[in-house]
Amino acid sequence: MTAQIIDGKAIAEALLSTIKTRINNRIKANKRTPGLAVILVGGDPASSIYVRNKRLACEKVGIASTAYDLPASTTESELLTLIDRLNADNSIDGILIQLPLPTHINDEHIVERVSPAKDVDGFHPYNIGRLAVRQPTLRSCTPFGVIKMLQAINIDLMGLDAVVVGVSNHVGRPMALELLLAGCTVTSCHRHTKDLSKLIKGADLVIAAAGKPGLVKGEWIKPGSIVIDIGINRLADGSLAGDVEFEVAKTRAGFITPVPGGVGPMTVATLMENTLLALELQEA
Ligand code: NAD
Repeated sequence: MTAQIIDGKAIAEALLSTIKTRINNRIKANKRTPGLAVILVGGDPASSIYVRNKRLACEKVGIASTAYDLPASTTESELLTLIDRLNADNSIDGILIQLPLPTHINDEHIVERVSPAKDVDGFHPYNIGRLAVRQPTLRSCTPFGVIKMLQAINIDLMGLDAVVVGVSNHVGRPMALELLLAGCTVTSCHRHTKDLSKLIKGADLVIAAAGKPGLVKGEWIKPGSIVIDIGINRLADGSLAGDVEFEVAKTRAGFITPVPGGVGPMTVATLMENTLLALELQEA
């Protein structure tokens, strides 16, 4: 068997195109375009690439993005002051702070300072809580992007046995909540999980988000199952790899995402949609 490779880039492009149309329709109706503040602290190379992609996506769909490229020496209190200013700015609908921040800044203090109504990353405890109680509002971009990708290829999630590898606040946990909302039976695995292989071997849907290249062995994949690789790992030779042994896994899975070109573009497209939604919710 050879898996169908899920083309996240193409699905994301289609989503961006619908967002562009919705924004154009707003402009025709004399409504304003959404505004996104994109904050980057320090010059981490991976973060700089992610931020550049997000700004390019804004240009593509017609979102007005404002760049805040701050030095690594920025203090927590300076960053909090900027967030307060952006929270109060009516032309800004979404505030994105690229994580991780330099170690002298507490990520959670920053995430919690963003107004939940402008939390287009869907990281604020309020928005995670809304998802937990089945009333999602602004949903975390990567997990929601995965759901939209699966919907785009008509995968019925109801009743599937899903295994999520990774339980971080921003990726693994909201991913498990999304799958629960979609009707899956969900198992969350982490670094203390006793027998990862046994759990993955029984899964209809595997979602890897550990940041460990090759952690999910191809031979563990149940024939015909769905494999979504969120991991992005830079290898010693400079290439990118996910958490799944792709070459073997694709000979067993029914569907599989590549890295790059799988989940990554969906994350960016979902951020664009969240920014538009944040504006629409303000107006409602
Ligand atoms: P993290 O380091 O915060 O969390 C990693 C999680 O993996 C932890 O919960 C940990 O318990 C678990 N884990 C680690 N080793 C394990 C093991 N041996 N067995 C089982 N579980 C294990 O990372 P994160 O921020 O959640 O990101 C995870 C990965 O997803 C990274 O590669 C990151 O670059 C990538 N990522 C991709 C996108 C995207 O758009 N594709 C977005 C965000 C993050």
